[in-house]
Amino acid sequence: MAKEAAGAGTTPKPLHELSRRGLARKLQVGKVSTGTLRYLSNTLVGKGFDWLLPVVFSKSTDPLWPDPGASIEKRIETEVYGESVRATQSMIIHKLVACSTAFGKFFVLSPNVRIEKRERGATGWHSYEFTQLDFEVRDGRFEHIKSLVEELIVGLIGELKSERREELTSLGRYGRLTAPKAPFRTFDTATLRARYGEAWEAALPKSISEPVWVTNIPREFYDFEDPSTGKWDNYDLFVPSYGEILSGARREWEYERIRAKMERDGVRKENYALLLKLAKEGRLRPSAGAGMGVERLVSWIVGAKHIGEVQPFPKVPGTVYDL
Ligand code: ASP
Ligand code: MG
Repeated sequence: MAKEAAGAGTTPKPLHELSRRGLARKLQVGKVSTGTLRYLSNTLVGKGFDWLLPVVFSKSTDPLWPDPGASIEKRIETEVYGESVRATQSMIIHKLVACSTAFGKFFVLSPNVRIEKRERGATGWHSYEFTQLDFEVRDGRFEHIKSLVEELIVGLIGELKSERREELTSLGRYGRLTAPKAPFRTFDTATLRARYGEAWEAALPKSISEPVWVTNIPREFYDFEDPSTGKWDNYDLFVPSYGEILSGARREWEYERIRAKMERDGVRKENYALLLKLAKEGRLRPSAGAGMGVERLVSWIVGAKHIGEVQPFPKVPGTVYDL
């Protein structure tokens, strides 16, 4: 829906160009967003997760490659103190290192800079700066992450329907939004390809009325690929009418496998020197985790036509705003 609902004339306006009605709506969305962040962070802290702060520039960041869904026009690389650094595309490398060393389970609300191709401005579902609720659990497996995420989503919708009833009602969402029932169904990409063909990602959200999991998605080296079956032990969460709001995986941690996958994929090993060194020394530990797109989650909850509507300062691909 996001895809068709957006389009010419609907590109979100910046704050100073909104009508009084537009500003009131922005504030209502902001209240739902605040309730969302409070619920998710409180729940995770209550479960013993540590709350880490994000970083912006590092030598290593997520390659976002190979990922058939990625469409990056430009990667931000710059130089500080004579060394080249990259703007965070995701904190996956930091997560692997933090989880293998000091922090057994943690989350971080991390700004991700992904300069998407400009045509993605029209999808209503992409933004070139967004915030990811990124978390990782040492020795975790899909079943742990699955039940954690389901508990978070079901609890969140219940909480917002009681705590943000007024805002959801005036946004026209109160009646339509119902807390989903766990466990959510899980589909293998092989099944989805057989059913919908290569365009399964666009078809799936239109054919579901509850969130569903998708597993076995070929992509970056850090997601675990089972050598005996060739299947990927990773998972995305899709919500009805919209699409993917969370991606995650059980991780690779063994040096030889990470090295071979980087070579196979043409990923520049020199950009991952520390990760490779730790892996070689046997210092990476098995883990699993995921990253949830906060603005996508809120877009679904409030029924936004364009993801930029839920950002105080929209970052729509192809458009550079003053702020
Ligand atoms: N942060 C990762 C990403 O953006 C998600 C994950 O934990 O795998 O792809
Ligand atoms: Mg990823």
